[in-house]
Amino acid sequence: MHDGYAIETERLTRKFGEIVAVNSVSLRIKYGEIFGLLGPNGAGKTTLTHILCTILPPTSGTAKVVGHDVCKEPDEVRSSIGIVFQEPSLDSNLTGWENLDFHGRMYGMSSEERKARIEEVLSLVGLTNRANSLVKTYSGGMKRRLEIARGLMHRPKILFLDEPTLGLDAQTRRVVWEQIEKLNQTEKITIVLTTHYIEEADYLCDRVGIIDMGRIVALDTPQALKDKLEGDVVYLKVDNLKKFLQIFQRSGLVKGVKVTSDSLQLQVSNGSKTIPKIIETVRRKGGQVHEVSLKRPSLEDVFINFTGKAIREEGPDAASRFRMPGHWRR
Ligand code: ATP
Repeated sequence: MHDGYAIETERLTRKFGEIVAVNSVSLRIKYGEIFGLLGPNGAGKTTLTHILCTILPPTSGTAKVVGHDVCKEPDEVRSSIGIVFQEPSLDSNLTGWENLDFHGRMYGMSSEERKARIEEVLSLVGLTNRANSLVKTYSGGMKRRLEIARGLMHRPKILFLDEPTLGLDAQTRRVVWEQIEKLNQTEKITIVLTTHYIEEADYLCDRVGIIDMGRIVALDTPQALKDKLEGDVVYLKVDNLKKFLQIFQRSGLVKGVKVTSDSLQLQVSNGSKTIPKIIETVRRKGGQVHEVSLKRPSLEDVFINFTGKAIREEGPDAASRFRMPGHWRR
């Protein structure tokens, strides 16, 4: 049992000149949670994570990680966290085992401790049988898993994963998700991950903070976020879209209606119950339904609802993406 929160921030702000990368973020992350920061390029995910990892100082506000203030007690924070950056930082001319051993030495672990822990973390990420292969012979997914194993070597209480599956194919991504879930359960470790993959946040995270232009615009479990969007969307293919647009606008049956390229998009509170009434209305008005389908809200819809844009849209900042080198900097 732990007292307090794994992470607690109060009006945390980071400016770069005119740009407010992190804007008054007050956040509490519980011990044992898998917490996702979901947002488009340039939203402020990396900057927020870097402040929490003591790589960047905030401009104002406070942040505590495992009860330690990131500005006043950076060493205590660093020894309590593990970090996996987007850029691979493994030595590809060493074996998996040697990479882990090197990391253990940096953290002052004894030879016995290192040996036992290397075996443990390799098994956790399913790389035991490749321990003695050179990292340059690993696949992308294996390298990512080894980086996660390395981040776990010194038994951190929180593991930060920056876009853990960026650039991996769908199948490998799923393997990495399963490993992350497993280590969260086995090691009882708090995981904070940044992602711009909606499915990743939906599948993995206990709670998700949607971040846009430096602000957390929504925060809850993926399901609760979806539930906040009341209702379903019914897609209806009929002849004479304009006529039926007007009919449904006046019908009192739907909460909203719009025309897409070849169908009507009807917003309703309960799709399954309303569809028969919609079909009946079309028939009564002399039309014919060619196709009808129902879509329940997804996390993507939640994102669009809160930010007014699709997450996959690249903002103007996309080309000037900021990356920190993999070492501490104040
Ligand atoms: P991505 O998904 O591309 O990694 P992100 O959500 O992690 O994006 P950040 O890298 O935190 O976003 O960037 C947030 C904003 O702060 C962006 O507008 C970015 O251009 C700006 N920014 C970040 N670092 C710097 C810096 N060192 N100097 C100037 N602007 C910066």
